Amino acid sequence: MLANKTALVTGSTSGIGLGIAKALARQGANIVLNGFGDVEGPKAEIAALGAQVAYHGADMSKPNEIEAMMAYAATEFGRVDILVNNAGIQHVARIEAFPVARWDAIVAINLSSAFHATRLALPAMQAANWGRIINVASVHGLVGSSEKSAYVAAKHGVVGLTKVTALENATSGVTCNAICPGWVLTPLVQKQVDAKAAALGISNDDAKNLLLGEKEPSMQFTTPEELGELAVFFCSPAGANVRGVAWNMDGGWAAQ
Ligand code: NAD
Repeated sequence: MLANKTALVTGSTSGIGLGIAKALARQGANIVLNGFGDVEGPKAEIAALGAQVAYHGADMSKPNEIEAMMAYAATEFGRVDILVNNAGIQHVARIEAFPVARWDAIVAINLSSAFHATRLALPAMQAANWGRIINVASVHGLVGSSEKSAYVAAKHGVVGLTKVTALENATSGVTCNAICPGWVLTPLVQKQVDAKAAALGISNDDAKNLLLGEKEPSMQFTTPEELGELAVFFCSPAGANVRGVAWNMDGGWAAQ
């Protein structure tokens, strides 16, 4: 379905971003990966699906590096047809104890990076009259949780940016939508599981169940594979008039 299309997925060396990149690769898209840590492993996983794959290591907190990444993608594959703004980090602390540098980093990586990548991707999408911008927000783009001020503020911002991007392009073939996962067992969440297990002196499995039980009625983690299939739907012909939605995959979290 996505042959001859190019998808750039930020923060795709791990977790949800890698899951979405693999789902788009399975549909035939060329993939531009981004993120830190092991690069060769994720590149090999994409190549094994028969897709062309490239990588750029831009730090998504730095606008000049985002510009370099977008220029690189255009040079490698002609243009970016599908942009998935996914890179994100977390820090958990009450507001009065929240480190200022962590606030700035979360707003830069989780929110401002999506603005920069979007503003740079739009002109080519508009010229082609086809584009898909998919913002990985969170259920925390819709509801709050204690001790996640920066994350919740940034993710609510992402949902707002999604609506404006969708509206400004509503008469064109360029759509923008957000995905709002609940708990997904990636390294980002495993750190929170580990912290709970250590704080309460309980096992990893008990900590996972506690985390799910606090928020997610299904008592099940959403998977990167499921999120990848939702991204594929947004890119499909049936998704052509889905504009500006924030679509939960949260096991009922926000329905309560
Ligand atoms: P993860 O830690 O597994 O992956 C994060 C990715 O972002 C990695 O590839 C990492 O290298 C990259 N990254 C981090 N800082 C970066 C930077 N400055 N520049 C470039 N890349 C950077 O986390 P994940 O759980 O897969 O999270 C992906 C997205 O999904 C985030 O936006 C997160 O907020 C969101 N999300 C996660 C969950 C969850 O439960 N895991 C739930 C809702 C939303």
